[in-house]
Amino acid sequence: MNVAEREARNRVVVITGAGQGIGAAIAHRFADQGARLALVDVNEEHLRRLAGSLEGSGCEVLPIITDVSDKEQVQKLVAEVIEKFGGIDVLVNNAGIIRDNLIKNISEQDWDQVLNVNLKGAFLCCQAVFPTLKAQQSGKIVNIVSRAWLGSIGQANYTASKGGLVSLTRSLALEFARFQINVNAVAPGLIDTPMTQGMPTEGSERLIRMQPTGKMGKVEDIAAAVTFLASDDAEFITGQVLHVDGGKSCGLLSL
Ligand code: NAP
Repeated sequence: MNVAEREARNRVVVITGAGQGIGAAIAHRFADQGARLALVDVNEEHLRRLAGSLEGSGCEVLPIITDVSDKEQVQKLVAEVIEKFGGIDVLVNNAGIIRDNLIKNISEQDWDQVLNVNLKGAFLCCQAVFPTLKAQQSGKIVNIVSRAWLGSIGQANYTASKGGLVSLTRSLALEFARFQINVNAVAPGLIDTPMTQGMPTEGSERLIRMQPTGKMGKVEDIAAAVTFLASDDAEFITGQVLHVDGGKSCGLLSL
């Protein structure tokens, strides 16, 4: 165990969208460091499975069913975490959804849902934890955006939400810096999760062909970047976007 991992022991970490995929991998990585975990997800079954897989890890786990786009639910969740653990050290805004379509086919409902979960959800969670982090004069917020924030055909709602989340990250980094609160983002490329497993095979094969590395990333690649940005090793890093995308943000391979 290195120095950063020792310091991470007992920290209270809130992870949204924790039930599966990238969020679950982040939970396991923090559990390995001995953190206390508030696992937040809208899906009860996913949360139950994750909590089961963490049994025996020795870390304290608080599963909370919450829709992050609902302000009342978010405030309740933060109050519950503080009551159980007495504070919050790290918030990972990971909950996210896709409703992909070309702009002419994006319904108003699909636009609103994606923006509400991916962008408003992160805003609500940041706002709800801020008084606690400010009182502590410490805290780390890591927002999961996407390489797609740079632009992606057929994902206007998703890219707008992630681009907005990058801007939110940068603005809050400035606003929170004087309180010793760091706000950063991790931008995953194509990662093998239930979200991408739901894509049509032809679409995902095309995306892998465009990928400089020629393969998808793993959930563990994202979890490692998140725990780094949440660690004391990242003390002087704030307002940044760390692309974990196998080089895709440098350019796509031509088909
Ligand atoms: P995933 O497999 O779909 O898992 C996301 C989890 O979040 C699910 O358990 C989901 O429940 C839950 N969730 C959905 N809406 C929620 C809400 N309103 N409140 C709380 N929880 C909610 O997704 P993933 O692939 O792990 O992606 C995680 C994050 O990484 C997302 O922000 C995504 O945009 C981002 N990302 C992923 C990739 C990739 O290639 N996978 C690439 C770039 C960025 P339900 O299943 O019931 O909806």
